Amino acid sequence: MTAHAWQSLRTKKYQLSLRLFLFLNLFSAFFSLLSPLYSLYSSTLPVIVIAVGSGVILLCHWRFPQKKINILLISLAAGCLWAWHVGVKTLELPTNNTSYVIIALLTILFIGTISFSNNIRAFTLNSLPVVIICLIVSHGEQWVRMLYCFALPLVGVSIHCVIQKRYDKFAQQLMYQLIAERETLNDLSMLDPLTGLYNRRGLQHRLDEQLAQNAKDHYVMLLDIDHFKAYNDHYGHMMGDKALIRVSTAIRDAVRSRDIVARYGGEEFMVLLPQSDAQSAMRTAERIRQQVYDLKIPHMFNESVATNVTISIGIAPLIANNVNLALENADRALYEAKHLGRNSILTSEQFTPA
Ligand code: GH3
Ligand code: MG
Ligand code: MG
Repeated sequence: MTAHAWQSLRTKKYQLSLRLFLFLNLFSAFFSLLSPLYSLYSSTLPVIVIAVGSGVILLCHWRFPQKKINILLISLAAGCLWAWHVGVKTLELPTNNTSYVIIALLTILFIGTISFSNNIRAFTLNSLPVVIICLIVSHGEQWVRMLYCFALPLVGVSIHCVIQKRYDKFAQQLMYQLIAERETLNDLSMLDPLTGLYNRRGLQHRLDEQLAQNAKDHYVMLLDIDHFKAYNDHYGHMMGDKALIRVSTAIRDAVRSRDIVARYGGEEFMVLLPQSDAQSAMRTAERIRQQVYDLKIPHMFNESVATNVTISIGIAPLIANNVNLALENADRALYEAKHLGRNSILTSEQFTPA
């Protein structure tokens, strides 16, 4: 999105300089036709071509802004037409009139500098034909002044181009850095900082992705560490955090890479098993339960269950993309699993809710 906006800004800048160039040419051509220097009305063909051409291209560009127009070709054509005009008009003047030549040259250089302050090639292509013609028709008179008039904006435009390029590069780097940081922040905002698993926001994002694919046979699991309050109370919060991290890793390791594991609450987790069936969901749950048990995290206060940390699991199928119903069913199964004596697994189909 940001990269696209950047590209469109660059295109707009290019289009604006072309429009400005065409407008200034149109204006100058009209001015030359309405109020020509020395009241010489002859040799106006190139000026008419410039006026009509600029007007038509300006109109086309305004009507069809998406159409790409070659700015270099236009600038060269305008430069040649102005050179033609200056050449013919100077020949028609009664005496060798260098001041007319200088005025004509300055007008073209002014148009080029204003329009192409960021485009050295377009500026040169536009100005060079006029500079050459001016040097020829003035027979070398005032050639230093003419070259100075050309060199000054040429150096100015070159320096401006270098500054602009550096600025563009800096702005582009800044933009890419911002995009990367935004992506990192976005990723981080979806993860639980303690366990590195998805948080509720990340879970919702992944669920939306999965449900959009309209795939069937998803299973939902809710997992809850047994007597974890007692663990915290006796071993301390720090140890509780460490246990949570180890249990999270065990759950993550026990499932397939396509399964989605999230920290659902304090010591509760949720696993979404896409494209699964009742048996493999049960097998996965059993693997998780066993791997958590095998961590052998000492828990002397895991009342009448074990002497290490254990987990209870409730499973439910996800039917018709109704996540809330699946979670409700899994929660009820988990509740029953706790009543069964903990460290156990129950599916929503294995009991009839009251
Ligand atoms: P049950 O077997 O019925 O699930 O009992 P329980 O003690 O595990 O359940 P309960 O909901 O009463 O207690 C959950 C405890 O989990 C309470 C809280 O101290 C602990 N807990 C929740 N989040 C965190 C956490 O981020 N870090 C630590 N260390 N403990 C947490
Ligand atoms: Mg618990
Ligand atoms: Mg709980």
